[in-house]
Formats: sequence, structure tokens, C-alpha cells
Amino acid sequence: MLYFDPLYFIVLLPTMALSLWASWRVRSTFQRWSQYQNSRQMSGAEVARLILDRSGCSQVAIEHVPGNLSDHYDPAAQTLRLSDDTYNSRSIAAAGVAAHEAGHAIQDKVHYPMLRLRTSIVGFARIGSWASWILIGVGTTLMFYLHSPLGYYAMIGGVIFFSATVFFQLVTVPVEINASSRAKEILRQHGFASGAEIQGVEQVLNAAAWTYVAAAIGAVAQLLYFLLRLGLFSGSTDD
Ligand SMILES: [Zn+2]
Repeated sequence: MLYFDPLYFIVLLPTMALSLWASWRVRSTFQRWSQYQNSRQMSGAEVARLILDRSGCSQVAIEHVPGNLSDHYDPAAQTLRLSDDTYNSRSIAAAGVAAHEAGHAIQDKVHYPMLRLRTSIVGFARIGSWASWILIGVGTTLMFYLHSPLGYYAMIGGVIFFSATVFFQLVTVPVEINASSRAKEILRQHGFASGAEIQGVEQVLNAAAWTYVAAAIGAVAQLLYFLLRLGLFSGSTDD
């Protein structure tokens, strides 16, 4: 017997729509600004190198990784990884993304507290993520298919682990927004300052920030759904 829960769709449909809109927007904005060369005609890798060297982060390595929009900074390896669309591209979009990733390396160097917090909980959040789905899966099976009261406790445990991933997503938002505001400032300082250029960088980075906001809202909505389902808000367990 399949269990269909309308509450799941009521709580999560708007957040799924927001998440789809955010990922469509980041792709289309990146695509648009990939067509315009940046004023200094530098590749993403060159922009990142310039910013890192001038910000006292010469020890940070830059690597080329396959894929689209898979750019990231790895604090453990002190390595900035730029994807196909960024590494060799001389576009405004590539300069924006490269500067954003360099912004993360600078956060690391200046011990920006939210990045430190994010790095310190990443392992716990990863364990929390799979542990929560196992416990919630086992709990649902016990509760709805085997009618065992143990299922309720397994689900409570799952929701506690899930909270760790929600917390991680929430901490990620200010880290990302801060890296982007650093990026905009640094690009201006280094002569990437034509009107359209700054506008393009802003649009690309704002669109990227929305994907993190959407992910955080989605995680909170998912947590809210679990809490409502477990009756922790309504005070009953049989609705
Ligand atoms: Zn970032």
C-alpha cells in the first residue's frame, strides 16, 4: 500500500518551485553574461590568480575541474577549483564566479567566523544527512506499515539528525552572500569597472545567492513538514 500525503505537497511545492526557478535563473543569467568579454580580457583562472596573489593568498592553488557551475573553494586543500565555463573563459560571468571563489579563500585567510563555523559542521551535516534519511525511512516503515510505536522514536531521531543539515544550509547563506560582496568590491579595485560589467557580475552573483536561499528555505520547509507530521506542533500524532 502506498502512502500519499497531501501535506507534503502543500508544504514543499512552493519551495520546490522556488528551487527550480533559482536554478533556471542562475543558468540563464550565467549564459547571458558568458557572451560578453570582461574589460581586462582575463580568463577566470587569471582573475582568481590575480585576486589571490594581491590578497595574500598566493599559497592557494587553482585547479580546473570538469562540469558546469561546479566551481568551489576547498578550505581543507586550500585549493580553488574552477569549472570548464570559468577556468578558460574571458567572459564577465567567468570573472564574477572566479572572484566569488577567491572571496571564499579570503574568508578563510581572515578567519571569517561563518566560514569557520560552516567548515567545522560540514562533516556532522553529511553524517546527519544520511543518518536522517535512514532513520526516517525505518521510522516510516515501522509506523505506517508495521504499526510499531518504535517508528515514532526512530523518526524523532531522524528529525534531530536532519536539523544538522538544515543548520548547515542556513549557515551557508551568509557565507555565500559575503563571498559575493567581497568579489564585487575586489573586481572594482582591480579595474573591472565598466558599467555593464559590474551589472553583469552583480546579476550572476545575485542569481547564485538565490540558489542557496532556496536550498535553505527548502530544508526549513522539509523540517517543518517532519515536525508537523510528528505532531510536534499540533500536539497530536494521528492527523
Ligand atoms: Zn560560494
